[in-house]
Amino acid sequence: MIPYGHQSITQADIDAVIGVLRSDWLTQGPTVARFERAVAEYCGAAHAVAVSNATAGLHLACRVLGLGPGDLLWTSPNTFVASANCARFCGADVDFVDIDPRTYNLSPAALEAKILQAESAGRLPKVVVATHFAGQSCDMQALAQLARRYGFALIEDAAHALGGRYLDRHVGSCRHSDMTVFSFHPVKSITTAEGGMVLCNRDGLDTRLRELRSHGITRDPARMDEDSHGDWYYQQIDLGYNYRLSDLQAGLGISQLARLDQFIADRGRLAARYDAALAELPVQRPWQDPAMQSAWHLYVVRLQLDRIGKSRGEVFAALRQAGIGVNVHYIPVHTQPYYRNLGFRAGDFPVAEAYYAEALTLPLYPELTKHQQDRVIEALTKVLQ
Ligand SMILES: *Cc1c(COP(=O)(O)O)cnc(C)c1O
Repeated sequence: MIPYGHQSITQADIDAVIGVLRSDWLTQGPTVARFERAVAEYCGAAHAVAVSNATAGLHLACRVLGLGPGDLLWTSPNTFVASANCARFCGADVDFVDIDPRTYNLSPAALEAKILQAESAGRLPKVVVATHFAGQSCDMQALAQLARRYGFALIEDAAHALGGRYLDRHVGSCRHSDMTVFSFHPVKSITTAEGGMVLCNRDGLDTRLRELRSHGITRDPARMDEDSHGDWYYQQIDLGYNYRLSDLQAGLGISQLARLDQFIADRGRLAARYDAALAELPVQRPWQDPAMQSAWHLYVVRLQLDRIGKSRGEVFAALRQAGIGVNVHYIPVHTQPYYRNLGFRAGDFPVAEAYYAEALTLPLYPELTKHQQDRVIEALTKVLQ
């Protein structure tokens, strides 16, 4: 089976991990600090805080923004469930904003319309989580303008987008947001097996992220409410978690980061090959905004089902049968049973639902060979005939 995504591991990656294994630190230590500085520098952000995974990063981002019971977080229905769950971890409520029909990202126009309704009801969001779907950035200037005008915080869920660009900067610069969260899961741009990172520019936010990452504990006398008892002394000043990344993982991350631009170039070249090969098929290819440079996490086509005469389920099953590991991103989050139990219904976000009914993710990752890609294209062509 040709999978939809796959990590790329070289001997250099293996050597980097072995090097850390032979060092004095296995858990969070100097290699994590180096990884954090390297990602912050790559993205052009002031601070980067490594965490155990992006879900933990989203949770910490919500915590440091003070999200809690009675507050509201809005996100896109076309994302992984973690983008919404982070609010529930904090006891806050979730609502969704429908997507742009071309980019499949959270729509600034739908956001503005929903804000105007919410304003009259006195129920504005405290936080908006914007997912850069498939690796293409959201329209951050439009979102940031609304965030300033209506006083909400903006978190970029950039789990798909490390290595991508918005205007002239890398995603993660936080030029138009409060924080950006990356994932280093094996199918993402680079991997640490499990892992994530939170980036920000505002001094102090990073301190709070670091405290909450490790039990709410500080060793900084300036953060304590009495004089230090000695060098062993620490204080727990908040209720935090163990959301740390290990030095082992960070060693892999640093080694992977050196190949990030190559990974993105490889993904982009394969995406362009799909674009050319699928031009005559009854599918809508992914639209690219010229202001963005996608990290090409996913290559998603929309099946023109009225022209195909088969259901998406039949197309999916036939391709899997042919050894092509197609996938579907995403089941609209508000239609999950957990969210239905909170009152959401099918029909609430029609653009995301119409997109979902036709979406199909084709295999795309740096080590996908042209030969394998040709097999995908041939199988798809045959199924759609
Ligand atoms: C992968 C992913 C996450 C979660 O990442 P983990 O590191 O597995 O916690 C969150 N949001 C989106 C959009 C993702 O694709």
